[in-house]
Amino acid sequence: MENFIVSARKYRPATFKQVVGQDSITSTLQNAIRNNQVAQAFLFTGPRGVGKTTCARILAKTINCENLTDTLEPCNRCESCIAFNNNASFNIHELDAASNNSVEDIRTLVDQVRIPPQVGKYKVYIIDEVHMLSQAAFNAFLKTLEEPPAYAKFILATTEKHKILPTILSRCQIFDFKRISVEDIAGHLAYVAKNEGVDAEVEALHIIAQKADGALRDALSTFDQIVSYSGKELTYKQVIENLNILDYEYYFRVTDAMLAGDISQLLLVFNQIIENGFDGQDFITGLNEHFRNLLVIKDPATLELLLASPSLKERYNKQAASCPAELLMEAMKICNKYDLDYKTSNNKRLHIEIALMQLSRLVFAPQERQMPKTAAPSPPSVVKEKPVQYSEKKTEPQPQQASLKQPVTKTETKPLQTPEQKPVTGTGTSGKSKIKHISIKDSLEALKRKDDNKETKEEEVIATEFDQQKLLDTWHSFVESYKSKSPSFAAAIGKYDPVLKENFTIEYKVDNIIIAQDVLNVTALLEFLKKELKNNQISLKHVLPKKTDKKVAYTDRERFEEMAKKYPGIIKLKDQLNLELEF
Ligand SMILES: [Zn+2]
Repeated sequence: MENFIVSARKYRPATFKQVVGQDSITSTLQNAIRNNQVAQAFLFTGPRGVGKTTCARILAKTINCENLTDTLEPCNRCESCIAFNNNASFNIHELDAASNNSVEDIRTLVDQVRIPPQVGKYKVYIIDEVHMLSQAAFNAFLKTLEEPPAYAKFILATTEKHKILPTILSRCQIFDFKRISVEDIAGHLAYVAKNEGVDAEVEALHIIAQKADGALRDALSTFDQIVSYSGKELTYKQVIENLNILDYEYYFRVTDAMLAGDISQLLLVFNQIIENGFDGQDFITGLNEHFRNLLVIKDPATLELLLASPSLKERYNKQAASCPAELLMEAMKICNKYDLDYKTSNNKRLHIEIALMQLSRLVFAPQERQMPKTAAPSPPSVVKEKPVQYSEKKTEPQPQQASLKQPVTKTETKPLQTPEQKPVTGTGTSGKSKIKHISIKDSLEALKRKDDNKETKEEEVIATEFDQQKLLDTWHSFVESYKSKSPSFAAAIGKYDPVLKENFTIEYKVDNIIIAQDVLNVTALLEFLKKELKNNQISLKHVLPKKTDKKVAYTDRERFEEMAKKYPGIIKLKDQLNLELEF
C-alpha cells in the first residue's frame, strides 16, 4: 500500500467548482468575491463530512490569489496559491476547537490576528468545531470578532449550530451546508473510481453513497476501505458483504412472496435475515424503500428518482408489472406503521412478522372481500315505541347473496398497469381458482362496501321514546347497581341529576373530568341506559357542573356536610361528644 493516499484527501476539492453537492453555497461565496463583499466572519454549519472545512480552505485560497481566473477560481500559479497547494501558506490558520478549546489557545490565536499578512491580502482563521470552545474562550474570542483588522477573516465551522452563542451568530454570515445527495456522492465516487482505475458497479457505488448518509468524506473512506481488500474490481456483492447491508435480493424475494400471498415464505425469508444478524427495523425500512422503488419505476415521469443500473432497473420493472400501484401504496402504509411502532414494541421479531402477515393478505383481498354494492341492507327505519329485534331482520331473505359468485366488474381502466401484467399464481388459501387477477382497487372498493355493510347493520335504529322521569329512575337504578362495582363512579354520577336533551342526548355532570373519561365505566352506563330504555340512539354528553349547581347529597359525608351547613351546632356537638366521622 505504498503511496496510498486516502481518497478523501487526494480528491479533496481545490476549487469551488469541484465542491460536491453544495452549489448554492459555492455560488453565493463566489458572488461575494466577485462583488468584493466578502464578510468578515462566517459560520459554516451542517453535518460532518459535507465540505465545510474544504469550502473554508478554498475561500481562503481564492481571496488570497493574485490572479483570479475569469470564473473566480484561484490561478494555482501565483505565490499564494503555490503556498496553499503545498500546505505552507502563512495566511491560513486552522484551530480545531475540539482539542484546543482553552482560553490560552484562543489568546494565542488572537495574538496572531494582530500581525498583518506578509504575502497576499488576507489572513484566514478557521475554527473547526467552534461549539467546543469553553465559555471563557468564547468570551476571549468575542472581542476580536467584534473589531477584527480588515485583513482578518474568520470562518467558524460547527456541526451544532444551536450551541453557538447568539452574540457570535449575530456577527457571522451563516451558511447551512446540506447533506450531499446520494446521486452526487455516487457520481463523485464514480469519478474517483475512474481516476484510480477501479472498475466499480453502479449499484456498489450507490450503496456506499446511501450508507454514507450525506457525508462525502464517509463515502470516500468506505470506498477506500473496500477497494483496499477487493482490489480493482468493486462489485455490489462485495459492498453489501463488507458493509453488512441488507441485499435487495431479499426484498425481491419478500415482494414475490407477498404477491403470492405466501405467508410461510415471507416468514422464512425474514428468519434468514434475522439469522444473518440484520436488524428488523432496517429490514422494514428497506422493504418500504423497495416498494417505493417499484412505485417509482411504474411512471416514466418519476423514473429518474430511481438510482440503479439499467439491469437492476429492468428487474424492478419486471416486478413492478405484477404490483398494482394501490397494492404498493397499501404495503407502504403497513411498512410505515410498523417502522414507526418498532421502537416501542416489546417483541420486535413478532412485530415485524405481524407486518409481513398483513402484507401477505393484501393480495387476497379480492377473494375474501368480494361483496357487491347491492348487498347493503335497505336503509334502516326509525321505529318509535316498538323496539325492533335484531333477529327479525336476520330471518329476512337476502336476495343479494345470489350475486356473490359473479365476478366484480372492473369499473375503470388502470393506467399504471403495464400490458404484460401477468396473473399471479396463488398458493395457500386462495381457494378454488389457482389463477387470480390481482386488482387492489376492486378489492379496496369491495372492502369499503363490506365495511359499509357492517356499519349499517350495527346502526339498526331502536328509538323508544322516554321522558325525564324515566331517565332519572333508570339512572338511579344504575347508580344503585353499580355501587358494588365502582363506588367512586357510582357516587360521581349519582351526585347530579342527568338531563334529557334533544335526540336522546343525555347531559350529565361529574365534578371530575377524569371520571367522565373513564371509558369502561361510561360505556357500562351507556349500555345500561340503552338496554333499559330500549333505545340505541342514546348518547351521553358530559358537562362540568357550574358553581351554582345544587348538589344532590349522596354520600354520608356529603349528607353530614349539608346538614352542618344548615345547622352549624352539629359540628360543635360532634366535637363535644368527641365523635369521629367514619366516612
Ligand atoms: Zn493564485
